Amino acid sequence: MRYVSTRGSAPVLEFEDVVLAGLAVDGGLYVPEEYPYFSSGQIEAMRGLNYVDLAYKVLEPFVDGAINPDALKGLINNSYKNFAHPEIAPIIKLDENVFILELFHGPTLAFKDFALQVLARLFDCILLKRRQRITIVAATSGDTGSAAIEACLKREAIEIFILHPKGRVSDIQRRQMTTVKEDNVHNIAIEGTFDDCQELVKQMFNDPTFRAEQNLSAVNSINWARIMVQVVYYFASSLKLGAPGRGIAYSVPTGNFGDIFAGYVATKMGLPIEKLIIATNTNDILSRFMKNGEMQIKEVIPTLSPAMDIQVSSNFERLLFDLYEGDGPMVKQKMDEFKKSGKMVVTSGVLKKAKKIFASCSLNDNGIKNQILETYEATGLIVDPHTATGVHAATNCSKEKVPIVALSTAHPAKFPDAVQNAIKIKPELPDHLSDLLDRPEFFDVLPNNIEAVKSYIRKTAFK
Ligand SMILES: *Cc1c(COP(=O)(O)O)cnc(C)c1O
Repeated sequence: MRYVSTRGSAPVLEFEDVVLAGLAVDGGLYVPEEYPYFSSGQIEAMRGLNYVDLAYKVLEPFVDGAINPDALKGLINNSYKNFAHPEIAPIIKLDENVFILELFHGPTLAFKDFALQVLARLFDCILLKRRQRITIVAATSGDTGSAAIEACLKREAIEIFILHPKGRVSDIQRRQMTTVKEDNVHNIAIEGTFDDCQELVKQMFNDPTFRAEQNLSAVNSINWARIMVQVVYYFASSLKLGAPGRGIAYSVPTGNFGDIFAGYVATKMGLPIEKLIIATNTNDILSRFMKNGEMQIKEVIPTLSPAMDIQVSSNFERLLFDLYEGDGPMVKQKMDEFKKSGKMVVTSGVLKKAKKIFASCSLNDNGIKNQILETYEATGLIVDPHTATGVHAATNCSKEKVPIVALSTAHPAKFPDAVQNAIKIKPELPDHLSDLLDRPEFFDVLPNNIEAVKSYIRKTAFK
């Protein structure tokens, strides 16, 4: 399978190079030249497969022989071995027609484990074949850091450095990173803010000598492989609820638009999804776009659902490319306009196309608290603040007659304060993390100084 850039001028690449490239050199994102398609007979035949076998079926056309079938199957199997639930992504019934898809049974209790566990193994597999190694550097204020660390530990070809702002990450989220003790995992507490950490990472990537010498790589959600892996749970859940014979709708707590875009890819692949509802928090740029076709940046407002506190949703560009029927130069023009003026407008025809499959719904912090309480009182289920936006959208904004599935993107124990505030009960960490607060921590403290960080990495990587 060949992959093209959404901005039309980067080289066309095959699967392995797309995984390693991340961002395309023209600033665009890679997408398949053509989406694979399963007939309803083929989808019907997937019924009853376990999660790992289903994942192989769904991913195989994207990988397209680049990795041999046994190696690919083994890699997928190992990726989901550490999940705490036998079904990997179980469905819970909330109401007659409303379901929750629990995506938090991975090692770090958020849905990012699904894609990062596979991505790190793909990196390892491809790099070992090529006798190359990479150094991953990332800044984090929450979920991504721990999911990346858990995915990269023990990977031979990867050394990972995660920068977090000292004293400014929640206890649980910091400990999920710093209690990992592995030779290739390095936690650095920077004496500064999250923005300082991000700036340091940017400076490292912008230094061609350092970048080449360390073979720097990123794990952000623009990597195609992350999207592709997330398509699998749409297939798994739809099949359980009666697809392909019956339509399904989804409600997806959205930040960078990666998770919901995977749902869109599933529709292109033949899954009968009738609606994808974009659930946003107070940072509602996507909801506003769906109303009037105008994407207009505002300031990021901190909320109870921090993983969705985003104004520029990078993966939206992939949808734009599809809405403009693969017109790369047009997407480039739109994205340049957006970068320059903080605003992008699409025609009513394009908006209409988007609205055929997407709807949207936003919820502020007060609404999030109320939804956590309401769900708890009605069903006894404790949901995290991100999931609450999805449940709200599923129950209040869906006009569909088909079953609707709200994606549950994080375990409530990751956000104990917000949950406790809403229902006066502290959510318990699952067994494998129950002693998290008693484990020893391993990290080094560095000043907010680029030379100090570079020299630390030079001294430590692959030693
Ligand atoms: C990352 C994240 C999201 C947002 O997902 P996107 O793919 O960026 O839209 C939602 N909820 C949680 C808990 C997350 O960690």
